[in-house]
Amino acid sequence: MPTSFFLNNVKNLLRNLRQEPISALPRRLTAIARPKLFRLSEEAAYRTGFGPLVARAYRGKGIALMFHEIHPDVDAELRTGCSAAQLDRIIDAVRADGRDIVTIDEGLRRLEEPESAPFALLTFDDAYRDNRTNALPVLEGAQAPMTLFVPTGMITRSIYAWWLGLREIIKTGDVLDLPAMSRSFKCEDLASKMSTMRTVTGWIGTDQTRADALAPVFAAKGIDIASLVARYAMDEAELREFAAHPLVEIGAHTQSHRFLSGLDEAVVLEEFKANKAYLEELLGRPVRYLAYPYGTPGACGEREAYLAALAGYRASFTTRAGHLFAAHLEHPQLLPRIDVGYAPQSPAALASRLSGLHRAMSTRFGSPVATRA
Ligand SMILES: [Zn+2]
Repeated sequence: MPTSFFLNNVKNLLRNLRQEPISALPRRLTAIARPKLFRLSEEAAYRTGFGPLVARAYRGKGIALMFHEIHPDVDAELRTGCSAAQLDRIIDAVRADGRDIVTIDEGLRRLEEPESAPFALLTFDDAYRDNRTNALPVLEGAQAPMTLFVPTGMITRSIYAWWLGLREIIKTGDVLDLPAMSRSFKCEDLASKMSTMRTVTGWIGTDQTRADALAPVFAAKGIDIASLVARYAMDEAELREFAAHPLVEIGAHTQSHRFLSGLDEAVVLEEFKANKAYLEELLGRPVRYLAYPYGTPGACGEREAYLAALAGYRASFTTRAGHLFAAHLEHPQLLPRIDVGYAPQSPAALASRLSGLHRAMSTRFGSPVATRA
């Protein structure tokens, strides 16, 4: 049997697992079945060893990996981040896969050069204090550089970090009443707490008004967002010290970390410019790279890409699935980036992201080069 025949069959199987027989199922069941089928497909590809072959066209010269919080106890924070051990494992897996971990400058240089070696970028969002206490020792041990994307409001405590408020209520209570959603959630154990966190975050989607609708709930429960931000995020002195480390580069992440697509053009441009100016003034060095908050096609697109270039950024990162290719140099303001900083993470899920299979399946074997979607 020719290999190509076999590979095509595997491809079809994966494509079908992603799409089938879902259309016939009721909508609610579909929402549960789809991610499960996706995971099963990844698992099948991993176990058969055919993932990298099926996804060969999706493997780019580079990959940008995304992390957020690095928790000492992932369960205590409802698995919204990952552990230092997981970060360490991912660094090992990336290197075993033949990639060097480099700075964004070096990565972009390698994309320009056909003969250069494959690479990976490590990026962290939002300026959590645990990046300094838990991630940096791992990065030092591995001699791996990283970029931290910093929203001004996290450092100045002026950000509306609804996700921290939501997590705090769910962590500390057994019930969450959300009148805006017309729902009441029981969250008595870790599984139900995690599922509530996912459901509410999914409901908010890219709608800032829904995020704002949580404010009265925070007020009623005595949740003070500014104190939560102070508990979890670096302050100016900490950021300055962190930024001075030779393995650390600082990037931009807007002033207020809102869904940009819902804001007026002038407001978005100001979000980009003021954040850049704040960080450059605080750190005394140029800030050349940006990560869009949320980063999904619903949260940022062509307009934001145009404004990011106008604000003076050299390249900007989304959370679109996919690897980095030379073709991205022609439109460097919507670069794909892969979330690997969540727990628990199966070896199959990580392998799928590192091989490119994750984008292949997410796009139903669409274009390997992520731009708008
Ligand atoms: Zn963020």
